[in-house]
Amino acid sequence: MEPIMCPFCGGTNLFQEDDYSLQMDFEYWTVHHWECLDCTQSFDKIEILPASNTFEEINESTIH
Ligand SMILES: [Zn+2]
Repeated sequence: MEPIMCPFCGGTNLFQEDDYSLQMDFEYWTVHHWECLDCTQSFDKIEILPASNTFEEINESTIH
């Protein structure tokens, strides 16, 4: 994971909890969760990736 700082106090003394993932219809969410050890606030960061795969492509491009 990239270095990140607390959005509340700017501290970098963070405890990262386990990530968890959510599979949506067309997206794949990875949720990162931190707790700041300086001010005890917790915060999340969500990464959203497209879940599309090439084999799922719809072959509709042959209309003339
Ligand atoms: Zn903090």
